[in-house]
Amino acid sequence: MRTAAALRDAGRDALALWRLRTTVGALALGIAAFAPLAASDARAADLAGGLYLAAAAVGLALAAGVAGLPCLAQGAFVAVGAVVSAHLLAHGTPTVLAALAGGTAGVLAGGTVGIAFVRLPPAGFAAATWIVSWLVALALQSLPWLLGGAQGIVVAGGPTPSQQYELALALTALSMLAYTALARAPIGLALAAAREREAAARALGVRTARLRVTVIAAGGGIAGVSGALAVQLAGVGDPASYGPFLSFKLLVVVLVGGGLAAFGAPVGVLVLGALSLAADALGTLEHVAASRAHELLAAIMLLGVVSLGWEGIVRPARRERLGGDSALPQRPETAPLTAVDVGKSFGELAAATDVSLEVEPGRITALVGPNGSGKTTLLRLLAGTLVADTGRIDRAEGGVARTLQSTAVFPSLTPVEHLLVASAARRRRSGFLRSLLATPLARAEEGAFVAEARHVLGQFGLATQADVPAGALPVSDQRLLMLAAAYATGASILLVDEPTAGASTGEARRVIAQLLRLRDQGLGLLVVEHNLGVVRNLADRIIVLDAGRVVADGPPDEVAANERVRAAYLGRQTL
Ligand code: ADP
Ligand code: MG
Repeated sequence: MRTAAALRDAGRDALALWRLRTTVGALALGIAAFAPLAASDARAADLAGGLYLAAAAVGLALAAGVAGLPCLAQGAFVAVGAVVSAHLLAHGTPTVLAALAGGTAGVLAGGTVGIAFVRLPPAGFAAATWIVSWLVALALQSLPWLLGGAQGIVVAGGPTPSQQYELALALTALSMLAYTALARAPIGLALAAAREREAAARALGVRTARLRVTVIAAGGGIAGVSGALAVQLAGVGDPASYGPFLSFKLLVVVLVGGGLAAFGAPVGVLVLGALSLAADALGTLEHVAASRAHELLAAIMLLGVVSLGWEGIVRPARRERLGGDSALPQRPETAPLTAVDVGKSFGELAAATDVSLEVEPGRITALVGPNGSGKTTLLRLLAGTLVADTGRIDRAEGGVARTLQSTAVFPSLTPVEHLLVASAARRRRSGFLRSLLATPLARAEEGAFVAEARHVLGQFGLATQADVPAGALPVSDQRLLMLAAAYATGASILLVDEPTAGASTGEARRVIAQLLRLRDQGLGLLVVEHNLGVVRNLADRIIVLDAGRVVADGPPDEVAANERVRAAYLGRQTL
């Protein structure tokens, strides 16, 4: 009985995920598998070459599309796979083993490049990876032991062209499946969030650098396998095939085809194929070598795509989210967050000096002070985003979450997806391999967290907007959404930076109601707030900062009566 029910559920899931694209993809794959029957050997080899390019490009789409990194080293990862495989094949290693070794080398190369450069800003990352491509190309040309120098390494024998074609087709299809699994998984969502608003993603606990390195390495692995197999197809490992233009071409393929959908890269390869026909025509017309004309047209195309901000031919499909039984966050026993004599300077400027405070569970502590008095800096110190120069901070076991001063939603993600990004750290079955294989346990967990997200959004009054891209929501809803996301991290202490900034009275009232509700659930809140009327309604305790120092700390009435506070800057306003 239970098996039958499980099967029925699995069937329903499969149907829910079955889209037009899936049908088209499966049909295309089925038809494509029979192509060698109608093609000459030379044609089959040509097609296989195109498919290897497509597979490497799908791997690049993980970094360049999902993670939004302008990676210009993918051709170098192909080269690394080819070098390793060429040596192994020349010594009689079976194709499959050579491919695995090439893939491993690609993962290592991708991981190394990722670790080295992932923290650079986008332009720096593009430049550094481009230089890697040059270095690899120069090394291949100048060090004969790497790939046989000008003659290359001859790789004889191996699969027939039509077998090569089937291998290439399988690799491309598998790459696309892996791409889809990762893009849909928590890893993909977290990367999308980091792509859109890095600081906000970090504030929700996304480990951006680590995830980015992971996808660069995974893409490098696909490139490595592709290079390893393609070298056997070519029959020779030739250094001239792995110039920087290969990396450039792969990025053009991804950007033109669309980096946010699995079909983007293969479509980009088709476009490039059409371009190469055009290049032949242009070549005859202008007496330019066709290969030069090809590079020229590809460069013009890339300039066009980049300067027009075009998102590519294939756009991402809407992600479907399965529901399930809710697993509401089990919040650990809340302990206070304490800071003792904390100090932080930016050069000459002391942004925090000897600050001691406590954020208690079940209470709202308001942090007030003039602009520039160090409130945001203090929140960053308490959250651990910034490291204190002096003093000590004890963070509660249950964790601390912070919302940013500006409304910082991820525009293309829905509210449900925002909460999934926030709750990912609490998941146990969302790792790389489980995501890649979409294991039943991972999917059951996904269902539970989606249900939880909907429940929490309901509590925050956002149920009807749960599946709309957040960029389309009114600012007042965006404000509540970021609060809901901070709550969904499971943290027991929330640090909330100016939650009502720019809000009308009615909107502020909604925010205040939510903050009070969270307090009543036992969470500890530290709220930066300018509006003293709001502070009065909200706070159990007020801490006043001035020029980085705590000048008053106590119950609202006491602080309001404090002479020093009034004299310092509250003179005009009455608490
Ligand atoms: P508040 O949130 O109370 O308006 P902040 O904490 O943002 O104040 O800033 C306190 C002081 O520290 C300001 O003078 C600000 O210019 C300075 N400051 C904040 N962050 C940095 C930084 N990353 N580098 C240099 N100065 C900073
Ligand atoms: Mg501030």
